[in-house]
Amino acid sequence: MSVVRVRYAPSPTGAPHIGNLRTALFNWLWARHNGGKFILRVEDTDQAREVDNGLELIMESLRFLGMNWDEGPDIGGEYGPYHQSERLAVYKKYADELIDKGAAYYCYCTQEELTQMRKEQEARGEPTRYDRRCRKLTAQERADRQAKGLPRVVRLAVPLEGSTTLPDFVHGDITIPNADVDDQVLMKSDGFPTYHMAVVVDDHLMGITHVMRGDEWISSFPKHILLYNAFGWTPPQFGHMPVVLGPDKKKLSKRHGATSVLQFRDEGYLVEALVNFMALLGWAYDGERELFSPDELIEVFTLDHIHSSPAVFDRAKLDWMNAQHLRSMDAQALTERLHPFLTRAGLTVDAETIRELVPLVRERIKRLDEIAPLVDFMFQDEIEYDPKLLVGNKMTAAQSLDALRAADEVLGTLDSLDDEAKIEHDLRAAAEKLGLKPAQFFGVLRIALTGKSVTPPLAGAMKIMGKPKTMQRIARALEML
Ligand code: GLU
Repeated sequence: MSVVRVRYAPSPTGAPHIGNLRTALFNWLWARHNGGKFILRVEDTDQAREVDNGLELIMESLRFLGMNWDEGPDIGGEYGPYHQSERLAVYKKYADELIDKGAAYYCYCTQEELTQMRKEQEARGEPTRYDRRCRKLTAQERADRQAKGLPRVVRLAVPLEGSTTLPDFVHGDITIPNADVDDQVLMKSDGFPTYHMAVVVDDHLMGITHVMRGDEWISSFPKHILLYNAFGWTPPQFGHMPVVLGPDKKKLSKRHGATSVLQFRDEGYLVEALVNFMALLGWAYDGERELFSPDELIEVFTLDHIHSSPAVFDRAKLDWMNAQHLRSMDAQALTERLHPFLTRAGLTVDAETIRELVPLVRERIKRLDEIAPLVDFMFQDEIEYDPKLLVGNKMTAAQSLDALRAADEVLGTLDSLDDEAKIEHDLRAAAEKLGLKPAQFFGVLRIALTGKSVTPPLAGAMKIMGKPKTMQRIARALEML
């Protein structure tokens, strides 16, 4: 069997969307599963739709997701160039070949004629399509137009009879009557190919073995297969991936909030969780197991488990997956991921301290950006809170005062606050002596030390803050009470 060669062929029209990247991911996983090649090709023949840094955003997204490519616009490769706008001569050559064979023809119709044609068809209640008038031109008529140098496009001469079977490994075979297919424009009058021409020529010349792309291209599929037939080329295997819907069952779009993977990155989602989540948008392993590392996905990803029914983007599920991956992640790796999120929040924390934070926060965050509000009190000089909070639920001010005094005494006698188990034990004993429940006692101390009601375990936090800062916060709370 020939080596698997697949491609991601985006148009550089903005930051790629989760749905586009899901399709890229399936291609990448298939390439890696088979030890094949993943190719990045830029479909930039519609220059009006391009945005300036479009390609950079695409490459940044792929890099972030760990989806490395083997050939592409930045690294080249045997089948380049990988920008379609640099391949115009190639498309012209192949269009000429079709003209010579009689499989395509020049069309000289003007925009006005086409509009008129459409209006008349609509008035007659017919489907609107090109009525093939230039296909019927005599040699003389064609020569006259040629001599006048009229602008022209190249159209595919679709067979007038018979039917074409479109083999799709997701949807199964689809058979359509050729009479339903329009004589598609292949080359525009400015010498640029249409998407249909460029995609077929490039997939063929680049040796693409499998085309996996979004369902929205199904309507173009007949044109592509007919074009392969016109050239006499064997088409690659095609599979159209199910559309990704928002929770309201409408096609996922910016309306649903974040759709760009870079935005998810900035919100603190792990690449492992995003890749895992995206893999399950249209693919399933056994219908049960849902958690996979990227390497595990490479191992188990197969095309027969891609399904045709729409996938729904469920943010709660992504959050859950992110929390799962956070929990199972290696401590050193998690330290490195957390670092920028602390820096971004204005907290200067060294790597060693973050490493100590990891066991305290791992189970308490769903996303990396939740770290800063959870631990900021440890690194700030002063904390602000309402002194009223120091009096705990169902407690008197006197009881709170007693609790803080006891904590001050217990902690004050220790040389350092490094022994979390001892701190925990001694404080519990002090609470018991005062007749307070641990929750009451620690509640007061928590406010005094952190200003918050929900925090990582206090003993661990005190260890990181150190004795002087801890004692100072208790002293300040005592004063306020
Ligand atoms: N350039 C197309 C896009 O932007 C590629 C479609 C295909 O994969 O054939 O999605």
